This record gives sequence, C-alpha cells and structure tokens, in this order.
Amino acid sequence: MSTAICPGSFDPVTLGHLNIIRRTSRIFDKVVVLVAYNAAKQRPMFTIEERVEMISRVVARFRNVEVDTYDGLLAEYAKRYKDAIIVKGLRASTDFENEFRMAQINKTINPALETMFLTSSEKYTFLSSSVVRELAGYGADLSEFLPREIIKDVLARAGAGAGGR
Ligand code: ADP
Repeated sequence: MSTAICPGSFDPVTLGHLNIIRRTSRIFDKVVVLVAYNAAKQRPMFTIEERVEMISRVVARFRNVEVDTYDGLLAEYAKRYKDAIIVKGLRASTDFENEFRMAQINKTINPALETMFLTSSEKYTFLSSSVVRELAGYGADLSEFLPREIIKDVLARAGAGAGGR
C-alpha cells in the first residue's frame, strides 16, 4: 500500500493545503496529514489539538486521508510506514530553497525517505496560513481562501485574539 505524508503547521488549513491533499489522495492509497510541532512558529492561532480537529472535519470527505500529529523529527515519524513518501506543495521559488534543504536533511537522517513536490495550483500560489490569519483580523471574507467548514472558527478566533477587530 502506498502512503504519502503531507506535513505542515496548518495554522489554519487553507484551500491551498486542501488542494495538495486532494491531489495527493488521488495518487496514493493513503494520505497522512501530519500536523507538526514547529517551535520556530511562535504564537500560533490554534493549538495542535484544535488544528487536528479542524483538518479532520475538512478531510472527512476523503476516504483515504487521515490526520496525525508528531512531536519529533519527520524523518523518524516516516519510519512507522513502509515506504512512505513525503509530499509537499511548492508555491513559488521562495519555497524552493527551504524545501530543498529540508528534503536533503530528511534523506540524510532516513536514507530510504523520498520527498516529492506538487506545484501549487495557480489560484493558490500566494495563499498561506499567515495571509489568512492577517485577513481574519480584519474580518475579511475568507471563502476564497479557507475550507467552508472552518471559516467561522478562524473568524471567531481572530476576533477574540489580541489584535483582532
Ligand atoms: P504555511 O507556510 O502556510 O504555514 P505549512 O507549513 O502549513 O504552511 O505548509 C505545509 C505544506 O503545504 C508546505 O509544503 C507548503 O509548501 C504547502 N502549502 C502551503 N500553502 C500552500 C498553497 N497555497 N499551495 C500549495 N502548497 C501549499
């Protein structure tokens, strides 16, 4: 059985992420969306548990997609599955250098681990969780950016948080 792992912080999951997850689910038997702890990203909008719950709601429509979380190295997590492949979305050239470096590091730690990239759909090339968090602070219409199942959660959190309007 082929397994893909789609890692990220997903704070929150966007239509750009969902586009990559959907396309990956058509190629692999099983997709694990892995919500990673990222110490570099400070002051998250949602806790890891909240992100897992929100993604689970969004991917309920796919039969072969699961959500998991891991507080460690991705290269170690991948060893749980036989021949798992990491699948990531590439937006613009700005993503490339960082992703290339991470793929090399993961391969050094776990030589059997391959990383594949899907190019972002044109429509979502400039979409990121941070853009969504900023727009949400202004109470903007997020229907072009977020899965409908989580729009209310994001607006509510932005309104309730510091700096929200
Ligand atoms: P962000 O950079 O938005 O915080 P994550 O760390 O959650 O994103 O990203 C997880 C993965 O999803 C990365 O491989 C990233 O390149 C990809 N991704 C994020 N947004 C998009 C998008 N709009 N289109 C395609 N891939 C994306």
